Amino acid sequence: MTETVKRVYAFGADAAGVNVTEGNKDMKPILGGKGANLAEMAAIGLPVPPGFTITCQTCVEYYQGGNQFAPGALDEIEKYRLDLEERMGKKIGDSNDPLLVSVRSGAPFSMPGMMDTVLNLGLNDESIKGLIAQTNNPRFAWDSYRRFVQMFSKVVMDVEGDLFENALTSIKIARGVSGDNDLSAEDLETLVGTFKDIFSSHVRAEDYPELEKDASGKVAFPQDPDLQLLLSIKAVFGSWMNERAQLYRKQNKIPDDLGTAVNVQVMVFGNKGDTSATGVAFTRNPASGENEFYGDYLVNAQGEDVVAGIRNTSPISELKEIAGLEEAGTELDKVFTALENHYRDMCDIEFTIEQGKLWMLQTRVGKRTAAAALHIAIDMVNEGLITKEEAILRIDPAQLDQLLHPQFDKDASYDVVAKGLNASPGAAVGKAVFSSATAVQYAENGEKCVLVRWETNPDDLAGMVVAEGILTSHGGKTSHAAVIARGMGTPCVCGAEALRIDAEACCASIVGTDIVIKEGDVISLDGTEGIVVLGAVDLVLPELSGDLDIILSWADEFRRLGVRANADNPEDAELALEFGAKGIGLCRTEHMFLGDRKAIIQNYILSDDPAVKDKALEDLLKVQTEDFYGIFKAMDGLPVVIRLLDPPLHEFLDNPRELEIEITRMEYTSGDKDAIITKRALLARIDSMAEMNPMLGLRGCRLALLNPELPALQVRAIATATAMLLKEGFNPHAEIMIPLVSVEPELATLRAESEEVLAEVGEEFGITLDLPIGTMIELPRAAITADEIGAKADFFSFGTNDLTQTAFGFSRDDVESKFVPTYLERKIIPFNPFETLDEGVAKLVKIACELGRKVNPNIDLGICGEHGGDPESVKTCHRIGLDYVSCSPYRVPLARLAAAQAALEDKFATSDNR
Ligand code: PEP
Ligand code: MG
Repeated sequence: MTETVKRVYAFGADAAGVNVTEGNKDMKPILGGKGANLAEMAAIGLPVPPGFTITCQTCVEYYQGGNQFAPGALDEIEKYRLDLEERMGKKIGDSNDPLLVSVRSGAPFSMPGMMDTVLNLGLNDESIKGLIAQTNNPRFAWDSYRRFVQMFSKVVMDVEGDLFENALTSIKIARGVSGDNDLSAEDLETLVGTFKDIFSSHVRAEDYPELEKDASGKVAFPQDPDLQLLLSIKAVFGSWMNERAQLYRKQNKIPDDLGTAVNVQVMVFGNKGDTSATGVAFTRNPASGENEFYGDYLVNAQGEDVVAGIRNTSPISELKEIAGLEEAGTELDKVFTALENHYRDMCDIEFTIEQGKLWMLQTRVGKRTAAAALHIAIDMVNEGLITKEEAILRIDPAQLDQLLHPQFDKDASYDVVAKGLNASPGAAVGKAVFSSATAVQYAENGEKCVLVRWETNPDDLAGMVVAEGILTSHGGKTSHAAVIARGMGTPCVCGAEALRIDAEACCASIVGTDIVIKEGDVISLDGTEGIVVLGAVDLVLPELSGDLDIILSWADEFRRLGVRANADNPEDAELALEFGAKGIGLCRTEHMFLGDRKAIIQNYILSDDPAVKDKALEDLLKVQTEDFYGIFKAMDGLPVVIRLLDPPLHEFLDNPRELEIEITRMEYTSGDKDAIITKRALLARIDSMAEMNPMLGLRGCRLALLNPELPALQVRAIATATAMLLKEGFNPHAEIMIPLVSVEPELATLRAESEEVLAEVGEEFGITLDLPIGTMIELPRAAITADEIGAKADFFSFGTNDLTQTAFGFSRDDVESKFVPTYLERKIIPFNPFETLDEGVAKLVKIACELGRKVNPNIDLGICGEHGGDPESVKTCHRIGLDYVSCSPYRVPLARLAAAQAALEDKFATSDNR
């Protein structure tokens, strides 16, 4: 027996007014969003013009069959068309009382304006007579016919739209009128003839053998309503694959293989005079979330007139006061309430009033800003419409970024001159500067600047701190610039490859243009979008409302995952607390060796004189102790994980390329001989430390093992700051973290050495210092031998930046701008693994957690890579069973929300399975 596939679903009432709807709102994958919601509205008794929906699968089959309908599909469509005619008591194309229909697309995900629609289908030279007779309104009838010929020709037959617009303009000029509405019925009848001529001379007979031809071989505008319908359905299917729809899907990560449904629906007319109207509305304000009806309508108009903005619309609140529309307006208010109560969410709707009678043409859960999302969710909980759990689940964590950073004013107009990666959200305006030192100078003079660099390095920190925004031409979303910028909440666009930066000449040209950005030129960045604009764009600071606090405090009631912050100074620690972090999961100490401390660490690295080295260490101990004291105090009572020095030491040294240029210049200009010799020696020393792959070289715990005085110094500083605070009555909770461990003895050795220092300092202060000592797991070997390493660790913190890099063998600073985009485009990887935790990397984390817990059931497990601030990854961390995530302070709110959502999704999945 062959399985019968249902390809068409009816909606609306039959001739006796009985609801015959076959679908519902949960059938979006089959009926598309529009079809599913039309079915739902009809089923709950709202006034929906009857019709039927051809499924998305029919569209998919159509493509699979090489643009041919599957066997039986056309028969089923025919059956439903006949049924619709019977329900309406009218026939399409009838010369006495014709039925007119619309043919609209409707994909499973909303793709506004991307696909095709045909209105007034069924009009021909016979049925126009019936429409005139029925409406007694020849002007309306001819206008409907000319709209149909125009739309059908453009949408279905691909005839250039301007040809019709030009003909319309010509007749208005000839009649001396300015508006479409000023044309008479006769004018419109003439226009129908002109439009049909345009059709005949622009549609090729060989492309459409099904069309009738005249004696000269030209095709005629199709008069057969069946053929009109068939060609329109094919056109809507075809529009699924048009260029803009494909691009929209790519941008919105909508799969290409879903197909679109087609809704064939009885036409209702908002352009039948002053008691007719059409409008679009939201049940609440989608910008602010206020509980008010929000939207616009136009009297005597068709749907596209509202959206096209040709005529000034009126606010929906006034509808009830318009003569002839009072009743429909009152009913619309009731519909708003019914929809909200039914969908339990803010809805957006399209409606038409035909001679005083309200008809609902569309509804869906409405899109809203982040501020509105919070406001609506809270109001709906307070109104008893939804639960707190539902409120939490409804808010997109990624949207919260909107609330925490300035943005381009959405009404501003500007030209984008370069694009890069949207590395750190928010927008910035300032004068372009090409070095960290210049940025500092600008800041000292009270001038706002944007730091433009090929890529940043730890040397640039001072400039990065004072810059309004950071722009680089190289590096990905976890490049130095990106990580630091996100950490500081500074907008950043990185990897803008069109920029050719000449830092020496203090300018950047933009490839393919004659634009050159010089120092002092004002530029604007939008790090949320990854765009660069020449000149100043107006910025707006989104208002931070108490709503965010309310939602996050609800989130905290449900989440199991802890949320800490990555912070390495007291200011960031305070900010992290403000955003609700419960501790610091990663304090990168290398950031504390920059600025005026760089000279000290350079003395340590470069000098062979033990006295100089010792003095450097002594100085560093002093400043590190102060650093830790400040942070532990700010985070009193909360854990602070201090990571011992991680980067290769030569990151603290001068750039050898720049040094070489300087020496060459000195030599060329007969500079001081001794100075040249000293600089050459320095260069040789720096060169001797160079590595082919520094990220796989002498860094992390390897650095500590080869320079034992460095970890000893840092542990001493941590211990001293802790002891001082304890003596002062504070409650510091420092934890010592050893980076980049791959084999257990690395950790065991450094642990033993650290414990010695802790004991010494404890003795000095007369107290016991029992600080947890743990490790980062950021190498695959460490992950799969976590049972060995775990025996020596009080905690694991997964450094998923390095773990991703080493698991894939991807150089994280290169691949994001070099080939990840191509990999994504070709679907070789589903997403950027440096942004969202990859499944393979997550598997390593899971294995390490299980192995670690096996040998150490009390081991504390967290993640401190960039993934700790990515909503999807936070959910993965919850599923794996980590204890906490740690992310930059600005991402803490988002992580709190995502963690709660993960817990709730878990809870609901478990209860569903019961
Ligand atoms: C990591 O590797 O995930 C990590 C947090 O360390 P860093 O980014 O500083 O190398
Ligand atoms: Mg790392």
